[in-house]
Amino acid sequence: MGAKDWEGLAGNARRAFGAWEPSSRLARRQLLEAWLEQVVLVREELAHTITRETGKPITLARTEVGRAETTLKVTLEAVAAFGEETVPYDLMPGAEGCRAVLRRFPLGPVLAITPFNFPVNLAMHKLAPALGSGCSVVWKPCPQAPQTSRLLWESFEAARILMTAPVHLLQLAGSDPVAAEALAKDPRIAVVSFTGSERVGRHLEQVLAGKRLLLELGGNGAVVVDEGVDAVAVARQLAAAAVAGAGQNCSKAQRIYVHRQFWNTFVPAFVEAVKDLPVGDPTNPATVVGPLIDQATACRVDEELDRAVAAGATVLLRGKREGALLPPAILTGLSEEDPFQCEEAFSPVTVLTTVDSFEEGLARASATRFGLRASAYSRDQRNLRLAASRLRAGGVLLNLPPTFRLDAAPFGGVRASGNGFEGPRWAMEGFTESRLIVEGPA
Ligand code: NAD
Repeated sequence: MGAKDWEGLAGNARRAFGAWEPSSRLARRQLLEAWLEQVVLVREELAHTITRETGKPITLARTEVGRAETTLKVTLEAVAAFGEETVPYDLMPGAEGCRAVLRRFPLGPVLAITPFNFPVNLAMHKLAPALGSGCSVVWKPCPQAPQTSRLLWESFEAARILMTAPVHLLQLAGSDPVAAEALAKDPRIAVVSFTGSERVGRHLEQVLAGKRLLLELGGNGAVVVDEGVDAVAVARQLAAAAVAGAGQNCSKAQRIYVHRQFWNTFVPAFVEAVKDLPVGDPTNPATVVGPLIDQATACRVDEELDRAVAAGATVLLRGKREGALLPPAILTGLSEEDPFQCEEAFSPVTVLTTVDSFEEGLARASATRFGLRASAYSRDQRNLRLAASRLRAGGVLLNLPPTFRLDAAPFGGVRASGNGFEGPRWAMEGFTESRLIVEGPA
């Protein structure tokens, strides 16, 4: 898409918003239902395209497309319930006979910017709730999966034409970040909804001051493992949470703090569980760990591993890189200042650290600028309650891995991990504003 093509997007989106904003809930639901039918028709093609373009293992790609269908279903249910609540205004003396409603109104055209690691479902988490709220959308997809994005957009277009919804309601932009930033600044764009790295999110925050900017950023997910839990079961859950999809998951288990009394039981179980996960060809349905997004990224992570080892880390597991394929690595003995602890790894690298107590684990887990997801395993209810109050993250999982996500539920980060929640109903709040409407007695 050339510079000229980007020029028309904001104007088109404004006009589409003018035509869509007055639509009924029925029309919005029918459009999303029709889109769901179209997605179902291309679900296998979508999954295979994700695998071809991003290297995501095919079984995980199929799961992602199934989740995107769920996200659409949840959104169309949310449309029915969202947007209006009555306020008992006649509680005040002198307000007898008054009626009031708090109603939400769509803000205008949304620019949705999405990352490569879930190129269909994370897009769906923005596109469907924005459309369901009455907004038009310009979608700027990641550069790594252009055919995946086109296929998803075409499925929408088929539904839009079928339902005679306004032209340009959902426009697919090119993937150029410079043009996207210029579009984000355009006053005709009312909301920018961004999922991606902390670096780009923080930059957008600086250049878009005053505009509604919804941020879903990275994390360095921590897990605290207490003594006495089922080592094999917990190790299996955490192994998948650490390395599935080559660890390119914003809520992956990156830092695992293990009670000293439990170290010798848990660590071998965890190393074995990671070793059990099939690594290799992403088109093989058995594969759990495929390649990283590209060879340059795999080389960079491999060099980072060399650096950590030179700095004194002990290697519990590591394999030889082949192209973009980097086998899982498990390290221990790293300081809290090491980048594998304090930055986002976004790769199949996990750091294990021993702690003297569960409380120490909670404190170290939260001593980070990120705050996306954290989890804790314990058989002691008091410890679990303590974890819920001390783990500073947008999602705290108890006796579950940090990657355990329900698409209908709120999902988001605090501090450097973001500024709000997605999940259809919560995303719809971001795309709308409240207005109190009070009517006196006639
Ligand atoms: P990225 O930040 O490099 O890119 C994200 C998107 O922003 C891409 O479409 C990119 O082209 C675009 N972009 C880059 N610079 C831009 C600019 N100046 N203006 C406008 N758009 C710009 O992220 P990525 O590498 O695609 O994805 C990985 C990151 O996303 C990780 O940090 C991961 O944690 C994060 N992520 C977060 C969540 C969440 O829900 N919190 C989910 C998935 C991924």
